[in-house]
Amino acid sequence: MPSYRGQRRSQNEIHHVAQYDRQQGLEKIHEHCGFRHRESLACFLLELKSAWPIYIPKRASALSCYDSCYCPRIPGMLELSTPVQYVKGVGPRVAAILAGKGIHTVGELLHYLPFRYEDRLNPRGISELRPGEMATVIAEVRSSGLFRTRRMPIFQLTVGQGRSRLRCLWFNATYLQDKFIPGQMIALYGKVEEDPRSRELQIIQPQIEMLGDASADGNGVEKKAAESLEIGRIVPIYEAVGRLTSRWFRHAIHTALDNLTPDLPEPIPAAVRAHLGLISARAALWNVHWPEPGESFDALQSSRTPAHLRLIFDELFFVELGLELKRRQLKAQTGIAFRLDERVRTAIKKILPFHPTAAQKKVLQEIAGDMQKPYPMRRLLQGDVGSGKTIVGFEAAIIAIENGSQVALMAPTEILAQQHYFSARRILENAGYRIVLLTGSLEADRKREVRRHIAQGNAQLVIGTHALLEEKVEFANLGLVIVDEQHRFGVMQRLKLMKKSGEAAPVERTPAEPDVLVMTATPIPRTLALTLYGDLDLSVLNELPPGRTPIATHCIADDQSPKVWEFLRKQVSAGHQAYVVYPVIAENEESELKAAIKMYRELSGKIFADLKVGLLHGRLDATLKEQVMRMFQRGELQILVATTVIEVGVDVPNATVMVIEHAERFGLAQLHQLRGRIGRGGAKSYCILMTGGKVSEEGQRRLDAMVKTNDGFQIAELDLELRGPGEFFGTRQAGIPSFRIANLIRDAQLLEAAKREAAAVIAGPDQEISAEEISRALVHMRARWQHTYGLVEVA
Ligand code: ADP
Ligand code: MG
Repeated sequence: MPSYRGQRRSQNEIHHVAQYDRQQGLEKIHEHCGFRHRESLACFLLELKSAWPIYIPKRASALSCYDSCYCPRIPGMLELSTPVQYVKGVGPRVAAILAGKGIHTVGELLHYLPFRYEDRLNPRGISELRPGEMATVIAEVRSSGLFRTRRMPIFQLTVGQGRSRLRCLWFNATYLQDKFIPGQMIALYGKVEEDPRSRELQIIQPQIEMLGDASADGNGVEKKAAESLEIGRIVPIYEAVGRLTSRWFRHAIHTALDNLTPDLPEPIPAAVRAHLGLISARAALWNVHWPEPGESFDALQSSRTPAHLRLIFDELFFVELGLELKRRQLKAQTGIAFRLDERVRTAIKKILPFHPTAAQKKVLQEIAGDMQKPYPMRRLLQGDVGSGKTIVGFEAAIIAIENGSQVALMAPTEILAQQHYFSARRILENAGYRIVLLTGSLEADRKREVRRHIAQGNAQLVIGTHALLEEKVEFANLGLVIVDEQHRFGVMQRLKLMKKSGEAAPVERTPAEPDVLVMTATPIPRTLALTLYGDLDLSVLNELPPGRTPIATHCIADDQSPKVWEFLRKQVSAGHQAYVVYPVIAENEESELKAAIKMYRELSGKIFADLKVGLLHGRLDATLKEQVMRMFQRGELQILVATTVIEVGVDVPNATVMVIEHAERFGLAQLHQLRGRIGRGGAKSYCILMTGGKVSEEGQRRLDAMVKTNDGFQIAELDLELRGPGEFFGTRQAGIPSFRIANLIRDAQLLEAAKREAAAVIAGPDQEISAEEISRALVHMRARWQHTYGLVEVA
């Protein structure tokens, strides 16, 4: 900012400044025009105010007045944090539209990236166009008009370059009438096709942009400037927002870049940038919108230019930095250092009903290692369905119990909690451990009693649903929390759960945070594990218990159902059991229920009238549910007709058939979970996916994937690809980092690099990274995280 003294300013200018001050306050001006010292700014304004009477015109935008007075003379005023309405041409109304898109600051505007680029440096001549190609054409409007066919009105536009002409058509586009003036230059982008009748080339419904500034009547300079952004270069194309067109963004972003402060802070330490060959933040912002001449067009379209890579890394790096910091902070907390001596080892060995697999041994070692440490464990145990997580959880429980602590085991459904309770009793009660079940459906008296046992420390292993969190359960001495099928809890619940597990222990007696082990059967693609669960340490059960034969999966149209029922009957007469599952239909539990009940009547009353068929759905009351489940477990029911309540966790090794009706309606993760209910014993198992009616293309891809592979990780990767990270867990959940630029599938490698570099930065300072750089990075990270996710509380 040049000193105002000695510089003559018109009364007009000064009045604008003063007015601006009134409306926006000192703070904003200070920020806006880059006064280094607030005092000098304040003096300046005070002097102004006393010198000039203030007159505020009614509707003038103070900001744009201010900008037009001062912008040209004060270069580089915008900071990334400057509110977006300080960009020239953005008034309060436009700012409101932008805010709807999450664009509040200059930085956010600059991160609104083009979704594609047009090569208007070498636009195609009409005469060189080939049918089938996507092309950008710059041409002159010749004629246009609407003609009506019997089916719909069609708008036709003819453009030309010299003698060549090209026809463009829009269906039902009466709104285009009167839009085009002959002689006007226009850019078109679309797929070139050959009209089957006339054999002439045409583009159907191209994207269009009028070139030149039609509103700048006659002002040659402005017109030239506008044109220079539109043609003769690679041009960024933005998604329009309301009435803000791609073209509008192009100009606004160009203006913002022009006025961006020259000393843009560089939050990524120099050494990190050097390792990865990253360009500066400023260059990245310029080039991503306005590529350098000669930039590869393919690299631009696939977001692989140095500018893109820098911005993507930026995004990933600060997420990883936050997660890394969180891991560190956790390790600074007081936990319980459990002892793992011979006595405890013997106790574990005593309960094991089978030889653990090598993978089970390995993950137990990792868990036990954490539990012995003086800080709290936060570990995610990830293992495909049927890989044997339960027993690992029990082993961890014994370590805690043998050290005199209580353990809470939480399951997402009552059915699963009950099942865990029964197997815990089967496996652990002989060894003398005291186990209780606490679910929402217990009678009040019983509940009270159980709670008392927990509070007095009599109960050593407490198994329950999230009622464990919500009811006022006080533990005498909680040392370990195990969360089964944790993906079902959702991210926010997980955070709450971890917090609660800390609160649950009365502070006076145990200042230590309990250990937390979360188990999930939804294999999480590594990229997601690194972000969503990046604050957890990861153990993977990558081996199934011995003696399993792979499940055979078949996809069959439901008009073939007699064959399916015949097959099912054969399996049952061989002594096995079967599930028949009905889907959630359009999230409508009511109709799902009806369908399942109808199916049950048909199967139990007609088709399998001679067999024992049970029905299980969410609306049954808890005792009935339990009864049905137990009967199925004991083999007293041969066929279980169910809704998706059996999706997770249920373990009946004798069941060998899973029939899923309307399989095309299920998500991949769900199909895989359901299939995971079979193939748990030694006998060959079969999953039959029945489809009814028309299957969408994506539905078919899901079914194909199921038939092709049993590998949960492959399925999860595909699922992530089909649904995108936000939807991966069924519904959008707060707390999943949402990336603007990065793409977890495409950018997996950069993510790994970001994680590595973040760890190195947090471990610093060293010769490469200075303490100052680290604190700068942390401050930046904190600002980003604070309004995105509440996952990190940085001291
Ligand atoms: P999930 O990982 O899906 O929770 P479970 O813990 O329910 O899997 O285990 C699946 C089945 O495999 C259960 O019947 C369990 O008893 C059995 N199982 C687990 N580990 C072993 C092992 N090492 N050897 C044999 N059977 C095992
Ligand atoms: Mg399980």
